[in-house]
Amino acid sequence: MTPIEPRRRIEFVLGDITKETVDAIVNAANSGLRGGGGVDGAIHRAGGPEIMEECRRIGHCDPGDAVITGAGRLPARFVIHAVGPVWKGGRNDEELLLISCHEQALELAREHGCLTVAFPAISTGAYGYPPELAAPIALRAVIEALERLPMIEKVRFVFVDENLLEIYREALAHLKA
Ligand code: ADP
Repeated sequence: MTPIEPRRRIEFVLGDITKETVDAIVNAANSGLRGGGGVDGAIHRAGGPEIMEECRRIGHCDPGDAVITGAGRLPARFVIHAVGPVWKGGRNDEELLLISCHEQALELAREHGCLTVAFPAISTGAYGYPPELAAPIALRAVIEALERLPMIEKVRFVFVDENLLEIYREALAHLKA
């Protein structure tokens, strides 16, 4: 059976990623896996202390990489903690690191048998990556990963902000096939 084209496996929704009933939600984590503000704080608050205990045991994750834990009280089965780049003007490997954290997150999802995965807009909050630049890079990385990973049926990008959703929607429409 031919897998569904990657673009048709991507969805955009407005909401809170902690409420997503997918196999894995992706956290925009920091290298120390210590939790923090933004989506990271929301995930640990809603998921309870088990997730942080596992993060402590893992200890560290390099920018551009990802690690996986259980999801505590969240409806998802797993949390994939992906560490995006801090925006420093665009000449410090930001693009490569943003691509690889999306790739690594989806590889981990596949290794753990996840069919559905939800992503936030990694690096576009406290890490300061301009969303107009981050959107096409994140989307291209996910599309290319989905080409290699036909078993992943659905990637939902979840936004708290309608403007951000519109930026990602526009970026997908303008990405070359
Ligand atoms: P980073 O440090 O990678 O920039 P942030 O958590 O500061 O991570 O922001 C990443 C994105 O996640 C931002 O666009 C922010 O609006 C969004 N965000 C914050 N809380 C949530 C949530 N509960 N669900 C989905 N997205 C969220």
